[in-house]
Amino acid sequence: MAESVTEPNPSQALAPLANSTGRVVLRRGKAKPFYGRHPWVLDTAVARVEGEVADGDVVDLLCDKRRFIARGIFNSHSKIRVRLYTWNSGEALDTAFWRGRLAVAGQLREQLGYSDPEGGARLVFSEADGLSGLIVDRYGRHLVVQVNALAIEKRLDLFLELLAEQFQPQSIVVRREHGVAALEGMTPLHESAWGEPPAGPIFIAEHGLRYGVDLSAGQKTGFYLDQRENRRIAARYLRGRRVLDMFCYSGGFGMAAIQLGGAAEVLGVDSSPKAIALAEANAELNHLAGIRFRKQDCFEALDELSLAGERFGGIVLDPPKFTHGRRTVDDALRAYHRINRQAVDLLEPGGILITCSCSGSVIREDFQMMLAGVAQKAGRSIQILEQLGPAPDHPVSASCLDGEYLKCFICRVV
Ligand code: SAH
Repeated sequence: MAESVTEPNPSQALAPLANSTGRVVLRRGKAKPFYGRHPWVLDTAVARVEGEVADGDVVDLLCDKRRFIARGIFNSHSKIRVRLYTWNSGEALDTAFWRGRLAVAGQLREQLGYSDPEGGARLVFSEADGLSGLIVDRYGRHLVVQVNALAIEKRLDLFLELLAEQFQPQSIVVRREHGVAALEGMTPLHESAWGEPPAGPIFIAEHGLRYGVDLSAGQKTGFYLDQRENRRIAARYLRGRRVLDMFCYSGGFGMAAIQLGGAAEVLGVDSSPKAIALAEANAELNHLAGIRFRKQDCFEALDELSLAGERFGGIVLDPPKFTHGRRTVDDALRAYHRINRQAVDLLEPGGILITCSCSGSVIREDFQMMLAGVAQKAGRSIQILEQLGPAPDHPVSASCLDGEYLKCFICRVV
C-alpha cells in the first residue's frame, strides 16, 4: 500500500536547506494542499518563520512536524506568503533550476506547433508552467514579460538573461498588471527592458490573418492569445451569417468570421477608442470587406440594437472580467445574464451564440446555470454545441485550478 502523503516520515524530518535562507513552518492541519502541490501558501496557513528571511528569499516549507514539503520564495507583504516552485528537497532554486523550467515550457510550445516565427504564443503561463508569477508571451521575434510576483521581480535581470538565451528574441518588453505592485509590495526594477523594443505596433499572423499588436500599451500583453483556437472554431459556425462581435478589441473574432468562416457581414463593438482604431487598421491591413466597427459601450449597444429591432445570425460575447473574487460572483452572474439575455433576443431562430467568460471566480457550472436562466427567461432553447477553454499554450495546472479562467461556449439558440 502506498504511504499516505500526509504522513510525516521521521527520516525526512530534518530538511536540507539547499539555497534556502530559512524555514516557514505551517500551522497544524494546514499542510494538505501543499502536499497536493498547490503553489500558494497563504499567510493564514503559516505558524512561524525561522531564520533571517528577507522578501524574495528562498525558504523551505515544513509541516508542523517539521517534515520538508516544498521549497519556495518568501514575501512578507503578500497574502501569498510563499510561492512554491519545487517539491524536491534536493533541488535548489538557482540559475540552473530556472533555466530548466523555461526550457521545459519552451518545449511544450514547440510540441504544440506554436513556433511560427511570425505568430504569437504564450511561452510561460505562471503556475501552469511551475513559474508562479511569471507570464511570457512571444509576438513574432519580440517577447513581453508580465511580472506578477515579487519573487520574479527580484530575479528579473536573471530571467531576462535566461529568456534571451533560450528564445533569442529581438527585444523583451516588461509589463506589470495594474494593482500587482501594491498586492505584492514590489517596486518595479525596470520599465521596459532588454534589447530595443519596437517603437510602434508590430504585426503577427494568426490563422492566415495579420494583426497589429502594441506590446507596450495594448491590453493584456497586447493581444488575446488565449482565444486563438476559439476564433477559428467559432468562425466555422458563421458562414453566410450577419454577425455581431461584442467586446471585439482588435477585431479577432469578427475578422476570423469573415475570412475563415465566410460570414456575410460583421459589426464589431468595443468601448475603447484604441481598440477600435486597432480593429479598423487590422481590417484594412487584411483587405477585409463587410466588416465595420463602432466605439460604444456594449450594454448601451445591446439596448440600442434591440430597440431598433435588429436581428443577427451570430453573436460573440467576450467581455472583460466581471469579478475579481468569489465575493462578487453573484453580481458578475447578473451581468452575464443581462448581456446573454439581450444577445439571445437579438438572435434569429437557429442563431449562433458564442459566449465567453474570463472571470476565474465564475466556474463553468455557474456559467451553465446562468445560460439555463437565460433560456428560461427568453423562452428559447439553448443548445450547447461546444464547450471550449483557452488555447493549449495556456495550460491549467491540475494542482492549481485557480489558473482555469477562460470559458467559451458555442451555442445554438432555437
Ligand atoms: N474578443 C477580443 C478580446 C476582448 S477583451 C479578441 O478576440 O481579441 C474585452 C474587451 O472588452 C476589451 O477590448 C475592452 O476594451 C472591452 N470592454 C470593456 N468594457 C466594455 C464595455 N462596457 N463596453 C464595450 N467594450 C468593453
